[in-house]
Amino acid sequence: KPRYIMDKSELHKIIDGVKKGDRRSLAKSITLSESSMSTNNEDLEEVLTSLSPLSGNSIRIGISGAPGAGKSTFIETLGLKLIGKGHKVAVLAVDPSSPKSGGSILGDKTRMELLSQNENAFIRPSPTKESLGGVTKSTREAIVFCEAAGYDTIIIETVGVGQSEYIASSMVDLFCVLMLPNAGDELQGIKKGIIELADMLIVNKSDGSNLTQAHIAKGQYENALHIVQRDHFWSQSVHNCSSLEKTGFEEILQDIDKFISEAKKSNYFEDNRKKQMQTWFKQSLERQFFKLLSDNKFVSQEYQKLENDIEQNTITPYTAAKQMIELIEKKLSRSK
Ligand code: GDP
Repeated sequence: KPRYIMDKSELHKIIDGVKKGDRRSLAKSITLSESSMSTNNEDLEEVLTSLSPLSGNSIRIGISGAPGAGKSTFIETLGLKLIGKGHKVAVLAVDPSSPKSGGSILGDKTRMELLSQNENAFIRPSPTKESLGGVTKSTREAIVFCEAAGYDTIIIETVGVGQSEYIASSMVDLFCVLMLPNAGDELQGIKKGIIELADMLIVNKSDGSNLTQAHIAKGQYENALHIVQRDHFWSQSVHNCSSLEKTGFEEILQDIDKFISEAKKSNYFEDNRKKQMQTWFKQSLERQFFKLLSDNKFVSQEYQKLENDIEQNTITPYTAAKQMIELIEKKLSRSK
């Protein structure tokens, strides 16, 4: 039987704190979900069960882009504009760095200094090395906690490499990709899949000597998007902005509003969130199922044996998996 790890009164202090919008409690709740390697963690379950009813009332925006595209600068400017309009903004990160490589792409610089000092902003600092493996898993949970704490705009930042933008886009209502004005290179470099994921393409650094090129790039992206076939209520839009000079943001904010109101009208908003809850369920189930299996002594012994056999080339991975399933089935039918 799984046990509580944290002192009960400490746990309730965190829950009450989050409900009151206390940022330290919010940070603690996210740490709890990042560090709960045990998927049966009842502490986390209690926090989630208490706070989930208070969540959902927000706009969730994904921001992706290559390293150096200007994500931090953009989010800082966008965040401050949103706060100026009376919103409360939380910034979370889906970081693709693996615990193996150690480093964190999003983490190794001072980021969003002005935004982080604003009392209506919450920025989850970059993950520590120990918790890296848990960060992506815990982002969904962190969204719930931030919303329960009263943040009405959640920004999920991710680097445009690997699988992370697919993960991020499966957690948000609206997905934006930041581009550089040099469209020639970018168009070739950008993976087609990401363009398909994007609800908005934003050509950042549209300023100074880049300005002419940036407007040309916008046109090129608009043309490129004509080819993309999406069965969707929204036709993808392209914007120019400068995060440094803070230009172009009114149009972007208006377009975000337009996206959300059309998404709600067309039922996409609700359907998409329901679909995301099902994905969350499926992923939790997979994780907990695997944990259940690896916690079982018999199963984990067999697992190691099969791993050895695969290494020795005496069995194919496919057959090994099949044998594993047959073993589990036998075990299950005997315990009935
Ligand atoms: P990230 O790696 O995507 O988070 O990019 P950063 O926000 O750290 O920005 C990378 C570099 O681009 C920094 O030197 C920024 O000052 C610069 N930068 C960001 N936005 C703009 C912009 O709108 N215009 C110009 N000229 N430079 C920018």
